[in-house]
Amino acid sequence: MKCPICGGQMATKKVDVDETWKGRTITFRGIEAQVCDDCGETIYDAAVVALMESLIESTLGKPEYPEIMNVEEVSRFLRVTPQTVYNMLRDGRIQATKVGREWRFTKEAIMKIFDLPTPALARYRSSACGAIKAKEAMEKYRVKLRAKAEKKKEEAGKKE
Ligand SMILES: [Zn+2]
Repeated sequence: MKCPICGGQMATKKVDVDETWKGRTITFRGIEAQVCDDCGETIYDAAVVALMESLIESTLGKPEYPEIMNVEEVSRFLRVTPQTVYNMLRDGRIQATKVGREWRFTKEAIMKIFDLPTPALARYRSSACGAIKAKEAMEKYRVKLRAKAEKKKEEAGKKE
């Protein structure tokens, strides 16, 4: 793949990753990643990011995020604005349940967004520049979803 930052060639490499969490550092050795030969930009697989995070949580202390979260917590968890969380709710990228007047999200439902057919979110989390690419990819995905929904509507109309 091509580097999202400089356009250079990226190669699969095993790298050591230092992650600092609440003032403590944990080092992962031999993590598989895409590394740019030119600028050193490193991109991890979404599954690898999720695995590292769960290891950090279980190794360095209590999980920072509960199993059931509100919009604020989800936005911090995903490092997006609450408005983005609402947008994701509206276009069906994320599932939630309304309890009283407030939305509640399970961690499991949140992790499902990483199964989307693009590595967009993994990139979003590992590079600022990647966020632009991620947005583009998400927009494409949203268009696809909309087309699918339209088609469904059409088919439902025919049956009547
Ligand atoms: Zn690069």
